[in-house]
Order: sequence, then C-alpha cells, then structure tokens
Amino acid sequence: MVVFDKPAGQDKASRDYDKARTGVVKPRELHELVRGNIWKLDPYSCARDEFKGREAHVFLDANESPYNAPYNRYPDPLQERLKESLAKVKQVPTERIFLGNGSDEAIDLVYRIFCEPGVDNVVAIAPTYGMYKVCADVNDVGYRTVTLGDGYQLDAGRVLDAVNAYTKVIWLCSPNNPTGNDLDRLEVERILQEFDGIVVVDEAYSDFSQLPPLRLFLDHFPNMIVLNTFSKAWGCAAIRLGMAFASRQIIDLFNKVKYPYNVNTLTQQKALEMLDEATATEGRVRQICREREHMLPAMEELPICQRVYPSAANFFLAKVTDADAIYSYLVDKGIIVRNRNRVQMCEGCLRITIGTKEENNELLAALRQYESECRKKKTT
Ligand code: PMP
Repeated sequence: MVVFDKPAGQDKASRDYDKARTGVVKPRELHELVRGNIWKLDPYSCARDEFKGREAHVFLDANESPYNAPYNRYPDPLQERLKESLAKVKQVPTERIFLGNGSDEAIDLVYRIFCEPGVDNVVAIAPTYGMYKVCADVNDVGYRTVTLGDGYQLDAGRVLDAVNAYTKVIWLCSPNNPTGNDLDRLEVERILQEFDGIVVVDEAYSDFSQLPPLRLFLDHFPNMIVLNTFSKAWGCAAIRLGMAFASRQIIDLFNKVKYPYNVNTLTQQKALEMLDEATATEGRVRQICREREHMLPAMEELPICQRVYPSAANFFLAKVTDADAIYSYLVDKGIIVRNRNRVQMCEGCLRITIGTKEENNELLAALRQYESECRKKKTT
C-alpha cells in the first residue's frame, strides 16, 4: 500500500522537472536534508575533549570520584580505540563510523537529525523491522509503507513513487527482517541513485549473506547510511553496540546529536576483545550458515510446514498450518520462536532463529511430535 499525505512542494516539482529534462536526479545538499536546529546545533563539549592529545595524570576536570578505577572514569566519548580496530575488520575508515547503544540508537538518531516532527516523512518497505516505525511514531514523523512484491522482493519504482517533497529518508533492510531474504541489489542501487534524500540500508544480518556488504561502497553513494550490529553475527546482543557507516559529514552529525557517553567502557572493552578474535566469530557464522542449510530442507519436509522462505540471515520464515497453535505448543515445551501471524504479508508464519545443532534438533522433534498428536486427535 502506498500512502500519500501531502502534495509535492515547489522544490520537488523543480527537481522532477530537472529529472524529466536531463534524466539525472540532482541530490539535495546535506544542509537541505538536515533539520535546521540540528545543522546549527552547538554540541555538548565533554570535559576531556578540551585537553585532548596531551599527556596528563591528575584528572580533576570531570567531577569523577578518584576511587574505584578504572570504572570511576567516563568512557571515551568517540570510542577511538574501538573504531581503529573496527576500521580494520570492517574496512571502513574511522571517521566514517558511528557507534551507538545498539543500532536502535542509530535508527532513532536518523529521525532526530533529518526529520522535522509533524512535517517530514519517511518511506519504508513492509514487512520489515518494527523499530523504524516505532521511532517514527516517537519522533512524530510520517511513516509511509510500500509492501514488498512476490518472494518479498523490492520494487524500486514503487518505493520511489511513494516519495513526496517531505520525504527525507528511505528505510531498507537487507537481509530483511522478518522475511530473511536479501533485497535485490540492483533495485537497492536504483533507489540509492534516484532518491535525492537519505537511504538507510540496515545490514544487521549481512554477515550471513553471500552479497558483498554495502558499507564497502560508501564512496559510490554519498546519501547512504549502512547499519551493522554486534547483536547478531558477533553474538553480543547483551553489550548493546550498533554501528552506522556513512560519509564523514553524516557521521559528524550523528556524533553531534548523540549522548556524550553513549557507549560504556565495559562495552568498548568487550567489543575490542571480540574484534581481536574476529576469526572465532567468522567460524561461528559459518556454523550458523551450515545449520541453516540443514534446517530449511528439514522444515520443508514437515507436513505442518506449507512453505519455507529462502534465507540469507540467521533466521527464516516458515508458513505453517496453524501458527498460533504451533507457537503455543512450542511455548509449553519451553521453545520460543517468533509468531509473525499478525504481521502484514506474514499471516500464518513463524520466524525461527537458527540455534545450535541441539536446539534446532529439539525444535524439529517438538514439531514432529505436534504433528503426530494432531493426527492422533483426528483419528480418535
Ligand atoms: N536491525 C534489524 C534488522 C534487527 O532485526 C535488529 C534487532 N532484531 C536491529 C536492527 C537492532 O539491533 P541492535 O541490537 O543493534 O539494536
């Protein structure tokens, strides 16, 4: 469903005219996209920013306690050591990295930086990750949805048709949650080229996909923000660490608006440890992908399963005979999956995360048992 709420304004009309005449979309300048108050914002200056770069051993500048080291000290507000390590692993220069309290922080910041409450809107695919809409609602920003097509695929033309003069951001998620598929890369690129605002591509699950990650193409698309997280492939959902990769100018805006000490010391330390052993994470990702290759056909064989959608993520979507009943049955067995029965275009579906081999086998056994109990009930 494409919902239009406001007529296109003069700027949009003249841009459309230019596009029709020349076939080229003129990107809006960053200052045209950023909220006026944010563009002018004088950011908070941390105590430690002021002496930066020089040696010191007595710190009486931040009203910290002198006891209980090292936790008495505020964390590095720009997480420099962590970004240096991340830059090597992610192949993105430090000045193009923002770190936040989960990628959920970056999602909220996108609204606070670019979208004028009560005026601007965003366009997002549907179904997709729920926080894009929650943050739009919190920030009083219009949220327009464009449903995915067959096989949950992206149609760039329909997304671009949903844009009006007040559209600042387009939200894409690839591999998409909850559908699990990669969005067609050519369609994503068309949106990046033809939309004159910001395009966020949430690649929370890209470590499980064969497609090259879009963060490696920041130079090609100055209007792109790519999101990554430590919560999935890195196995660190507890530490709350999310990443945004974008042009230096966009990252500067994130840093200006974020809370000064948004990533705590324990998180920074743990993330550094994980990055030092990045090969261990790569091994776990390979293991999860192997399990996925085993789980999808195993699910397809179950008579309660009507369809298993292809997945490039660490989860998959399965259409089953009775999603609510099967969900409750599994809960009674102590197995929790995500019931997506009430999500538009996911009716009758469960979203199932790939676990360890033992967990996956336990799930399959429980589903077989459900089925045999159903059969028994029918015959008695
Ligand atoms: N993006 C997507 C697509 C997700 O599915 C999730 C969490 N399920 C997030 C972002 C949030 O990640 P984080 O834990 O880094 O806030």
